[in-house]
Amino acid sequence: MKGSREISRREFLKASVILSGGLIMPKSFFSLPVTMQLHKPIGESATICCFCGVGCGAIVASQDGRVINLEGDPDHPINQGSLCPKGMAMAQINTVDGAVNPHRVQKVRYRAPGTDKWEEKDWEWALNQIAHRVKATRDRYFIETDSEGRMVNRLEAIASLGGAALDNEECSLVTKGMRSLGLVYYEHQARL
Ligand code: SF4
Repeated sequence: MKGSREISRREFLKASVILSGGLIMPKSFFSLPVTMQLHKPIGESATICCFCGVGCGAIVASQDGRVINLEGDPDHPINQGSLCPKGMAMAQINTVDGAVNPHRVQKVRYRAPGTDKWEEKDWEWALNQIAHRVKATRDRYFIETDSEGRMVNRLEAIASLGGAALDNEECSLVTKGMRSLGLVYYEHQARL
């Protein structure tokens, strides 16, 4: 009886350890994903503000491909959860089926010289116009040599202004395209 009582005690202790371990395990097991979910639940992702060189971190929540919330990332070492008004407006450049900003113009609008009337055009028309005008301007104003006869191959009649919503890859493509045309006036409006 004594032996069986000791075994029972051991079994009891063993069962207690397993039980308490079992109670702890689910808690620790589930608390980690729950904690992680609070910071990065499904539909949320960390990103960097595209607007200036400060490079603040943000957390973007999305649903069905649309941004439903955007806030500063409290874990980001630069901004520690804060965002300036421009950064807070970053959600407005979300463009899955149109920008979130209701004031954003989504169709090509053209105002011919000498009129105050705007016409709605399609993209094919607009891109053809741009290509035609760029070529005509380049053909007319391209400079092959400077006043001392040195080859310069530059175009001063067109300038390029990039936007902060462009990412690195887009900036790289724009740079290559503009440089290949000979542009020298080449800028970006992002604050540094
Ligand atoms: S625009 Fe504002 S939020 Fe965005 S990186 Fe610059 S300071 Fe940060």
